[in-house]
Formats: sequence, C-alpha cells, structure tokens
Amino acid sequence: MRDLIEAVLSEVATPADITALPLPESYRGVVVLAEESMMFEGLAGADKDPSKSLHVREVPTPEPGPGEVLLAVMASAINYNTVWSAIFEPLPTFSFLKRYGRSGPSGARHDLPYHVLGSDASGVVLRVGAGVNRWKPGDHVVAHCLSVDLESPDGHDDTMLDPGQRIWGYETNFGGLAELALVRANQLMPKAGHLTWEEAACSSLVNSTAYRQLVSPNGARMKQGDVVLVWGGAGGLGSYATQLVRNGGGRVVAVVSSTDKAELALACGAEAVIDRRAEDFRFWDGDRPDAGEWKRFGKRVRDLTGGDDPDIVFEHPGRDTFGVSVFVARRGGTVVTCASSTGYDHHYDNRYLWMHLKRIVGSHFANYREAWEANRLITRGVIHPTLSVVYPLTETGQAARDVHRNEHSGKVGVLCLAPQEGLGVTDTELRERLLPQLGYFRARSA
Ligand code: NAP
Repeated sequence: MRDLIEAVLSEVATPADITALPLPESYRGVVVLAEESMMFEGLAGADKDPSKSLHVREVPTPEPGPGEVLLAVMASAINYNTVWSAIFEPLPTFSFLKRYGRSGPSGARHDLPYHVLGSDASGVVLRVGAGVNRWKPGDHVVAHCLSVDLESPDGHDDTMLDPGQRIWGYETNFGGLAELALVRANQLMPKAGHLTWEEAACSSLVNSTAYRQLVSPNGARMKQGDVVLVWGGAGGLGSYATQLVRNGGGRVVAVVSSTDKAELALACGAEAVIDRRAEDFRFWDGDRPDAGEWKRFGKRVRDLTGGDDPDIVFEHPGRDTFGVSVFVARRGGTVVTCASSTGYDHHYDNRYLWMHLKRIVGSHFANYREAWEANRLITRGVIHPTLSVVYPLTETGQAARDVHRNEHSGKVGVLCLAPQEGLGVTDTELRERLLPQLGYFRARSA
C-alpha cells in the first residue's frame, strides 16, 4: 500500500505508471458487521454509540466493472448517514445491500456480511472499468454519492427519480471511509486545486443536497432577496445552505444552539441568528405541539428581518421543528425538507398550509448536474468547506460519535491514505487568497 500512496501522490506519475502498479489484494475500510446488527437492541437512539459498531477491517479489493472506477481515497468525511448506519437506524443497512444484491450480478457483489461505509471522498483515480472515457488513472477527483445506472426511463429527466438510484456508501458497499473505494464514473467531479485532500473530501454530499433543496428548479427555486430560515445553520447541511443563500442574494436567519455556532453561522453569511437553546424554544409540550411557541418563534423571526416571514424554510430536524417550520413560512412560501433527524412522525397544522398556500417540497441528495454545479462553486472558491476537525481512519468511530451527539460544527473529516493533513493543494495562488475563509471552522473548533 505504501508504494501505491507514493505513486499516486507523485507529481510525475503518468496514467501508465499508475495503471502498471499492482493493486493490493485487500485494503482497510470502516465497516459495520451484519452479525452485530442487533447489538443495540433495547437502547434509545441517543444511547447507541457508533464507536462500538464501527470497525476498521481489512477487506478484499473489488474489481471495477463496466462504467466503474477504483479510487485511492485520500480523505473522506462523516455524514449523518454514517451515524444512521452505525446505530442501525431506522434499519440495518444490510437490508439495502440485500435488495441491491437481488438486482443482478453487479449488485450481488455488494451483498456482503460487512458494509464499507462512507458517502464522500477525495482521491486519485487508480483504475477505470470498461467504457469509462472521461476519467483516467492519476486524475484528482471528489466523488458525489449518487449511484445510478439509468436503466429505467423514469430517471432520464432527473436521475434522482430513477427507481435504481442509491446512495453510495449507505445503500451500496465499498464506500469512501476506506483506503480504496469503488464508484461509478458518473459520480466523479474535479477536485478543487486550492483545497487539501481533507478539505476537498467534506463537501460533496451536503453541498449538493443543499444546492438541490434551495437553488435547483427541483427544490425551492430561491430568488434574490428571499428570506431563508436555516435550521442548524452551523451544522453539516446548514453551513452550506447558509453560504448558498448568501451567494445567491438571499438573507439567512440561522438557528443554532450555542454562541460559538452563532458566530460560525454569521461567518457563513447569515444575516441574523436565533440561539434556540439560549432563547429556550420548545416546540413540543410533552407529546403535544406547542402553538404558543410557534408564535413566539415567528415573532422573533419577524423582529430580526424587519417584519418579513421566511420565503423558504430549510428543514431537516423533522419532528421537533416541522410544525413551526410550516407555521413560520410566509404566505405562498416553501418548506423544503430532506430529513427527519429527530423523528419522521411529523405534526403540523394543515390550516396554515392550505389557507396560506404554502408548499412542502421533499428533496433527496442531488442529480449529477446539480452536484456538478454545486462542486463548481467549490472549485471556484465561492463556497468553502466547513471542515472543523479531522480524525485518522482508525478513529472514525469517535468521529461519528461526535456527530451523533451534536458535539461538532460544520463537517468532520477523516484521513484515509493521505499520510498527513495539508496535502493535495495544486493551486497555491487561489488558496493564498482564500485562506482566511478556509480556516474559519478549524480555528473556532481548535
Ligand atoms: P449535522 O451536521 O448533525 O447538523 C444538523 C444540525 O441540526 C445540527 O448542527 C444542530 O444544530 C441541528 N439540530 C439538531 N437537533 C435539533 C433540534 N432538535 N432542533 C433544531 N435543530 C437541531 O447533520 P447534517 O449533515 O446537517 O444532516 C442533518 C440531517 O439531514 C440528517 O438526518 C441527515 O441524515 C440528513 N441528510 C439528508 C440528505 C438527503 O439527501 N436526504 C443529505 C444530507 C443530510 P444546532 O444544535 O446548532 O441547532
């Protein structure tokens, strides 16, 4: 593996040199094990500890099939789906792998008693399968997480509508929290030259998701001047949503739960911040929604915006916040949701939806075009990675634990083959110019 690292990091290695390298028979990956799927049975979600179920194991190297690419992974990142996989909620991911396995011989390779997780990666192309023309060994890339073969007509306007779309490293095997990863060629995008491997690895999943939710015609179609309420404005999704809104001429009211996170949300471009903990917002009174709190929150938003209600509410907490999100959206406004972290059994008062002609839009990851456009903003240095901390591969369990306990801000990175932080920059001039913005989340979390 050491020869492989030296070769892919060497600036003089040609595609032929890299192709000539023998591949290792096995590699280290972060896995959950099918035999442990029931290990947390009886525990509440909050008490399930990802550091107990995530293991670093040596696993066999897969062969890239037609249209596939084998990557040397330099760095990866924790996404919340790593947490869901590690606590086996809402169900063990082995059920996804089994279903994929039934789809045919290509899918059957993924149905294994271990699941290599991870839905983000930066790295170097090592091998390309038959029919891959756009990418070659040695290319520096990031991978987005939409795995789709597009055999169904349903996916041809929007690949997210394909019945065979899967989230790589969550609903497929051979994910990015590993030394090697197997992806489809149409998951690859150019790595930003001004970023290190670990900075480059942390954005694709959340940035693309937030882009589709807010900017895309498939999402809320944000306009200049729109007021957008962003839950978790210094979290993974929220820190990118805030930057995207600001970059598109909108105004963000970010909700956070500490003064540090308030500063981070402001640094991402929020116009105003609500500290939900300091202001003690509780939208549920036991198991009953508290409409009085919805009104107090709505008034607080209006106070901060000079009387405007949000044109768009960027939703992902789910049960805890969905009722107030529907309530505060302006007449004709949009609540765009991609998740239910606090519970998928939502409650909202439908009178506020229909009488005020609001829309609820469901959104999930992004198609290749949307991911590419979101990545272009990163490569141009317009949207910045919000990496706050980096762990070695061997401590991925702890990294996922931090995210599960909401003890992180922005993104939590993981070094895979990169021997240390700070490597991979090819555009030093742009980096120099952007350095103050790039270091912000790291500095606040140090
Ligand atoms: P994250 O980094 O943990 O950020 C979530 C933020 O939510 C936290 O920073 C926290 O901010 C806020 N939060 C937590 N509990 C809350 C509550 N009870 N009320 C209000 N805010 C709360 O996670 P993420 O990466 O942003 O992901 C968030 C969710 O989206 C996860 O469920 C994930 O699986 C999902 N997701 C879905 C897609 C998709 O394609 N469908 C893509 C990405 C993520 P404060 O504590 O500062 O308020």
